Amino acid sequence: MCDKGMTVHLALGSNLGDRRRNIKTAYTLIEERVGRISSSSALYFSKPVGFVSEHDFVNSVCEVITDLDAENLLEAIQGIEREMGRVRKSDSGGYSDRIIDIDWILAGDRVINTPRLVVPHPRMHEREFVLLPLNEIAPNAIHPLLQKSIRELTGELFL
Ligand code: ADP
Ligand code: MG
Repeated sequence: MCDKGMTVHLALGSNLGDRRRNIKTAYTLIEERVGRISSSSALYFSKPVGFVSEHDFVNSVCEVITDLDAENLLEAIQGIEREMGRVRKSDSGGYSDRIIDIDWILAGDRVINTPRLVVPHPRMHEREFVLLPLNEIAPNAIHPLLQKSIRELTGELFL
């Protein structure tokens, strides 16, 4: 589904262990397995959204140039999560603490809708912890379904 040299955006979050180091390790593995990171945001701090925890998150967003197709990209980021020791709460659903979470938030102007993969990520446009770092590195990127720039979507968070 992806062309050679496709530009995608990934959002990373960690709220367990050495959170900064977890983000750095994930970036190293993304470079090795997904593609060149052409830019990455600073680290941002956020409160857990959707679940209660005393552990706050460190978040960051990056832009990656990848030759992987969509399925392989999802496999690659899930493999990194697994190897870094992320434990998914089986069957319980919902959100929980995690060493690393890597979400594929944008694929340029492409829209992907399969049972396993939805891009743009369906909640990215309402999440401060995604939009603030994304607005730092890609304010002019357009959300292909909402037809609004990241700058506009970020502004709307605070209306
Ligand atoms: P969340 O990030 O919402 O807390 P998970 O990281 O556990 O949840 O992901 C749950 C499932 O979401 C994954 O098994 C994956 O197949 C699916 N998924 C759908 N769209 C995406 C996407 N754009 N990026 C990452 N995972 C996705
Ligand atoms: Mg995820």
